[in-house]
Amino acid sequence: MRKKIVAGNWKMNLDYNEGVSLFSEIVNMVKDERQGDQLAIICAPFIHLNSLSKLGGSDVAIGAQNIHDKENGAYTGEISAKMVKSIGAEYVILGHSERRQYQAESDELLAAKTKIALSNNLKPIFCIGETLDERNNGSYYEILKKQLVNGIFSLTEEDFRKVVIAYEPVWAIGTGLTASPEQAQDIHAFIRSEIEANYGFNVADDTTILYGGSCNPGNAASLFAQKDIDGGLIGGASLKSRDFTDIIKALNS
Ligand code: PEP
Repeated sequence: MRKKIVAGNWKMNLDYNEGVSLFSEIVNMVKDERQGDQLAIICAPFIHLNSLSKLGGSDVAIGAQNIHDKENGAYTGEISAKMVKSIGAEYVILGHSERRQYQAESDELLAAKTKIALSNNLKPIFCIGETLDERNNGSYYEILKKQLVNGIFSLTEEDFRKVVIAYEPVWAIGTGLTASPEQAQDIHAFIRSEIEANYGFNVADDTTILYGGSCNPGNAASLFAQKDIDGGLIGGASLKSRDFTDIIKALNS
């Protein structure tokens, strides 16, 4: 059975003390709300990962927001998958639209990052999503398929099973505009059907597909009630312990 996940993406926010304090609040609150094999993850800036992985225990897993595509070497200022793994992180966000846009990360680079993450036992949270123009001109199915095929569909089945997919329409990220539950379900079903065509029914049925884009305590329950939506990737609302915990609660409703 696929896992239900709520993952927070803190982006470039919170200094060291602010991060520790928010995370401690989140761990305390999540303990009471998380059910069964539901999983909460916080993807934090690199400076936080070491301390958070010690504080998180079994209640909140830790993820990074990026890694380099090479194992090690002369890449000043970069961080490798092995380094991230060595301090206790289990996940890494790859393919986020902000990195595709501001760091010009291509599908090919993301495919390399995905492979290096997996070979270092880090599980990718692989993001795909269309821009507003692509939604309006009707090319979005084609764009999403291309991101899947070029980014992750060349993985072996064993590796693919470790990937969490996040559908994040670019027009909904940080804008306050959310995809309606029907729009999001339509795309999640499409993603699952593409996985089925590539890896078969069982893999598709087992793959966790998160929705991301202005998800908040007010809209999470109706999104999570859709049959192909297995939780959320949460930006802004993950910076408030109450909101993040209420979104986890919405997994249960
Ligand atoms: C994100 O950046 O992954 C995201 C979903 O952001 P927000 O929730 O703020 O739209």
